[in-house]
Amino acid sequence: MIFNRKVVLVGTGFVGMSMAYALENQGGINELVLIDMFKEKAEGEAMDLAHGLSCAPTGIDIKAGDYSDCKDADLVVICAGNAQKMGGETRLELAKANAQTVKSITCQVVSSGFNGIFLVATNPVDLMTYVVQKVSKFPTNRVIGSGTVLDTARLRYLVSKKVNVSPKNIHAYIMGEHGDSSFAVWSHSYVGCKPLYDVLKTRGEDLSELDKIYENVQQAAYEIINKKKATYYGIGMELAKIVKTIMDDEREILTVSAYLNGNYGHNGLYIGMPAVITSEGVREILDLNLTQEEQEKFDNSFNILEENRKIIDEVINE
Ligand code: NAD
Repeated sequence: MIFNRKVVLVGTGFVGMSMAYALENQGGINELVLIDMFKEKAEGEAMDLAHGLSCAPTGIDIKAGDYSDCKDADLVVICAGNAQKMGGETRLELAKANAQTVKSITCQVVSSGFNGIFLVATNPVDLMTYVVQKVSKFPTNRVIGSGTVLDTARLRYLVSKKVNVSPKNIHAYIMGEHGDSSFAVWSHSYVGCKPLYDVLKTRGEDLSELDKIYENVQQAAYEIINKKKATYYGIGMELAKIVKTIMDDEREILTVSAYLNGNYGHNGLYIGMPAVITSEGVREILDLNLTQEEQEKFDNSFNILEENRKIIDEVINE
């Protein structure tokens, strides 16, 4: 349950501060503590953010802090670690170094007596969420990764442009690894209550357009990084949404990185799936009836994460 409406952010880089800025603008939390390996960076960010409070919808106590601040926090959000570099570096290539970073942060958070919910954004996010759960030994529902929320947001935006309807009325998901093997669940994509396939057919549109939309989603991070070195506003907004969904017990369905417990025929890893998010974390996973092709894509994504799990387990057991 949520007690203090207190969030601790670890990693005050582009992604973490975009979430912090989104939260400041949206309001609804009482305390925000910033932690970074460069304490002065966290201090500067806290000052800068706090100077905007006169324009914020609700008051927030913003400060730079340390791991002892996690003790009575409801949520710890981990955005610390290396980001993909320009030139096509994949998220999976970040795995080993970021696993070490995330492991060390998790140990320090748990040592404080923290007993809330972990939200992880550091890439490769599915594997980093697994690290946090294994190291913290928290119940799997209280360790959540941002998963494919950003990919899903990109998909909804692009489909909304295609059909000229608000993204709020596009119900469609990207599932699987937050990475190159993700996939769009076209068989369960709707514009309002009407299947997307039917909307496109009625308009005489070619269904192969959907492949182009997925390709744009999958390549978006590479394209943005090549143009401006990093991606952060989109994920910042999505992280703020997950935080607020948890704080307000909104029971919203989001494609977070959640723990597989027999879902879609798999076990033991975190992966992007639609799940109901409450103040307790992941309440339940929406088990969609995937087509055979979609299930094969899910299996492929799982197998890729499984192959990379070995490197991660070595770091966890070091
Ligand atoms: P950044 O380099 O701007 O920020 C990283 C921050 O982490 C820095 O301030 C750094 O000092 C801090 N840090 C590093 N190690 C630390 C430690 N041990 N303890 C405390 N702080 C530490 O990077 P960014 O662009 O903000 O990206 C952060 C992470 O988010 C990357 O792994 C990136 O790939 C990931 N990301 C995820 C998504 C997603 O959808 N999940 C989207 C974009 C980026």
